[in-house]
Amino acid sequence: MKLRNLAAASLALLTLTGCSAEKPQSLEIYAMNTLMSMSAYGENAGEALAAVSARMNELEQELSVTITESDINRVNTAAGKPVDVCDDARRIIEEALEISAQTDGALDITIYPVVSAWGFTTGEHRVPCAGELSQLLELTGWEEVQLSGSTVTLPEGFEIDLGALAKGYAGDCAAEILSGYGVSSAVLNLGGNVCAIGSKPGGKPWKVAVTDPGDISAYLGTLTASDEFIVTSGKYERCFTAEDGSTYHHIIDPATGYPSENGVASVTVVGTQGILCDALSTSLLVMGEEKAYAFWQEHGGFEMIIATDDDRLLITEGLSERFTPQNGHVITIICAD
Ligand code: AMP
Ligand code: MG
Repeated sequence: MKLRNLAAASLALLTLTGCSAEKPQSLEIYAMNTLMSMSAYGENAGEALAAVSARMNELEQELSVTITESDINRVNTAAGKPVDVCDDARRIIEEALEISAQTDGALDITIYPVVSAWGFTTGEHRVPCAGELSQLLELTGWEEVQLSGSTVTLPEGFEIDLGALAKGYAGDCAAEILSGYGVSSAVLNLGGNVCAIGSKPGGKPWKVAVTDPGDISAYLGTLTASDEFIVTSGKYERCFTAEDGSTYHHIIDPATGYPSENGVASVTVVGTQGILCDALSTSLLVMGEEKAYAFWQEHGGFEMIIATDDDRLLITEGLSERFTPQNGHVITIICAD
């Protein structure tokens, strides 16, 4: 990996809102298992946000693994038989399978039975024994998902969950709706998936803070962004400490059935397609530093920030002018060649 060291720059202030005198229309909703905060400027902003909100609720009804009769719930319940799904579900599954192939299975939507065994779906956390995990891993494998047109067929006993990339897709849908209403200045936070639409009313880019996985009340730094998605996957997000004193988090390495432990604490992906950023933030966390770097070098088309367990902060070179570290963090720039 080619690296360039930079001294920590001065502190930056977090501002998610614009500084102009113009007041945004703001809306908070709870959908897709997360709090979504949205602010938009311009004359159609209120109407546009109402439309986004309705669409988020629609996506939840279609995609939630726990809502009976959602498209995903129907696929899981009927495992072994073909099930027709809506266009949203088809598009997300298609993208997920493509990313699974590219990441050698680091992203795997069939990991759901394992995620459930750890109690991350109910909040009743537990540490499954190795035998239970190896049995459950028999019921996983993205290559076994058959998608033909809009028909999905899972092997019996399999279950899928689109949680690793559905909010990113929701961000793409929201951006499309806002653009349809002529909104050119908005910022949405869909539970850690930030959509920076256009720029602030005065024309300056949005500033987005990136959480410090070592101290979630602090920030690693701030990033300027316009017309982009900024998506973070972190070990700190949903985790629990078991009786043995070990902490376990919600992103599972499909190769082992255990939460990924490879020295990477969080990955933030920045790019122009929400679904890709979301799918990749999860995948790259599972892949670890070296494989994430190799993936970025091979595929490109996105930027990333990797925070490690030992407090190192790596950023790809495209962000070097746009990321301002905070709290004394020292950044290392990753270069492509
Ligand atoms: P994210 O916060 O986008 O990284 O997504 C994490 C969520 O995706 C978890 O809470 C699980 O529901 C699910 N998940 C965990 N590990 C994986 C994995 N390796 N591939 C696909 N989905 C996963
Ligand atoms: Mg994700």
